[in-house]
Amino acid sequence: MRIFLFILGASLASATLCLAYRLNLRLSLSGFSYCDNCRQPIAPISLVPVFGWLMSFGRCAICHQRIAIKYPIIEFAYGMLFLTVDDYRVLLVFILLLFCSEEDSFNQTSSSWILLPLPFLFLENLRDVSPVFLVSLFIFLYFSVILTAQLGEGDIPVLLVLLSMLSVHYFLLAVILACIATIAYSLFSGNKKTAFIPFLTYGAMISQIIFQFG
Ligand SMILES: [Zn+2]
Repeated sequence: MRIFLFILGASLASATLCLAYRLNLRLSLSGFSYCDNCRQPIAPISLVPVFGWLMSFGRCAICHQRIAIKYPIIEFAYGMLFLTVDDYRVLLVFILLLFCSEEDSFNQTSSSWILLPLPFLFLENLRDVSPVFLVSLFIFLYFSVILTAQLGEGDIPVLLVLLSMLSVHYFLLAVILACIATIAYSLFSGNKKTAFIPFLTYGAMISQIIFQFG
């Protein structure tokens, strides 16, 4: 029966990616998915998360345009996440983070304010954290945004929800992993302005897995 959790996670990830894509390009939310290149509807079998991509060898069945490998990887990761994490609050955070990550990677803006109520779901994780530490961290983040312009305003709600969900140690691990990945990506791609939320999401996912099995 647990296989259904994998299918649920992979399908929700697939739907979230599709929603972010369509909202970003201001496309209609109804109707079947179609290929970006040839505008032909995608065969139902190719829409099955992870398997669809493998069955079609990562290409559109009609025009053979490549379909980015990130789609099956993200769907697989979310399938595994739903299989291993049984806290619905954590799963909700990761689905919303996926949406914000996609928006951020499209146009470096994100409606991450939707995350702002979520820290209240995890208040018990912050019970043992000193209020002085929290206020200092918030001031540090705020000035990082103002002074360096390296963090975007949209990153702050993401950092707040991750801090409350992961608690301090795993939060710092997630941020360090995200920074290393962002620096590596910037050097590799030569891209000066890189979306940070996708990297924070990957960092948080690895941190969450270590927390789960650690
Ligand atoms: Zn096509």
